[in-house]
Amino acid sequence: MASHHDVLIVGLGAMGSSAAYHLCRRGVRVCGFDRFSPPHAQGSSHGQTRIIREAYFEDPIYVPMVRRAYELWRELEREAATPLLLETGGLMIGRPDSQLVSGARASAEQYGLEHEILGCSDISRRFPAFRPEHDMVAVYEPRAGILFPEACVQAQLSRARACGAQIHSDEPVLRWQAGANGVSVKTERASYSADLLIVTAGAWARQLLAELEPPLVVERQVAFWFDPRSSRDHFSAANCPVHLWQFDDGRFAYGFPDLGSGVKVACHQQGITGTPDSLTRDVSAEEVEGIRSVIRRFLPDADGEFRSAAACLYTNTPDEHFWIDRHPLHANVLIASPCSGHGFKFASVIGEILADLTTGGHPSFDLSVFRTRWPLQPAARSSNSD
Ligand SMILES: Cc1cc2nc3c(=O)[nH]c(=O)nc-3n(C[C@H](O)[C@H](O)[C@H](O)COP(=O)(O)OP(=O)(O)OC[C@H]3O[C@@H](n4cnc5c(N)ncnc54)[C@H](O)[C@@H]3O)c2cc1C
Repeated sequence: MASHHDVLIVGLGAMGSSAAYHLCRRGVRVCGFDRFSPPHAQGSSHGQTRIIREAYFEDPIYVPMVRRAYELWRELEREAATPLLLETGGLMIGRPDSQLVSGARASAEQYGLEHEILGCSDISRRFPAFRPEHDMVAVYEPRAGILFPEACVQAQLSRARACGAQIHSDEPVLRWQAGANGVSVKTERASYSADLLIVTAGAWARQLLAELEPPLVVERQVAFWFDPRSSRDHFSAANCPVHLWQFDDGRFAYGFPDLGSGVKVACHQQGITGTPDSLTRDVSAEEVEGIRSVIRRFLPDADGEFRSAAACLYTNTPDEHFWIDRHPLHANVLIASPCSGHGFKFASVIGEILADLTTGGHPSFDLSVFRTRWPLQPAARSSNSD
């Protein structure tokens, strides 16, 4: 058995690296593990860019958390002396009664967030890259923007290392145990013990928490980069805010300005589901053609040469809210990470929340919506630790 730590972390992607960073800043002795070498392209935290936005259409409950997340990203940016967040403004575009537009508007109004409502012609006059349909409107929020996920994970890990964290890359955790005297994890190399365990394994959470049979669904998502075929300057960060679209009732798409690799566009959801080890990361020519129909409809000048694509994984809960809680059977095990495709922007604040929960602090957010909210399976109810 290797040396004893205060906290072991399984999974050092967005959430786990943030937890490591926030715990180490408080003097907690952390040892973290990842099955790959983060930042890597096998999980949920790659693909160059992630949207951060405050006018949260999904639920206003996220607004106080995302405001704190902005502060913490900026703090990390200063500490790591590297750019992590670029504010470009953001457009949520759809019909006025769509979940996207009405929800973003409700959050903005409830929290007094700076925003504007733009009609269809205002959108394309101010931002000529976009071609909304005649009955579409937009909520524009000036503070929305882009996080650079690989740089964020890298910065969290290097700051954690600088504060003394032990980071074990390419060392998958095979199993873990928890009991009254602490926790332990087993890898191919050794066993490790600590007072507490944090499971932030993203798409692999279901496997590590199999005893609970959590109803998590892993969904493959693909992002695509295209060269603009004309009007390249319309897609620069100065002229092209991050953008989300809701159309044909339930479909969502989103995109980013061209930061040098092309215009990034993707659909939200509607991906194939499976396990993280079985879902292909390859992208087919049919998929590239498929996204062009969205581009031609809403961003016609971006319909140029295909540059690249990346497959990535969502880990969805049934209600698409996060799962952040103590393990229902082991109070010394914390679970955080299945984030249903919208969690990256919160990684900074989720790390702080995990550090609070670990060190006896009280997070200043309403976390009730994120608790374990599905019945425990009989096998889990009758099992004992150790
Ligand atoms: C295409 C796409 C676009 C997205 N867009 C946005 C967006 O615009 N804005 C936004 O806020 N969010 C977005 N998200 C969601 C966001 O990226 C995720 O919620 C977030 O990255 C999840 O972080 P995580 O730490 O849970 O997972 P990950 O970063 O994948 O980390 C989990 C880690 O656990 C490790 N691991 C797993 N099992 C083991 C084991 N047994 N032992 C050791 N290590 C293990 C994995 O290797 C991995 O590194 C998007 C997601 C995708 C896929």
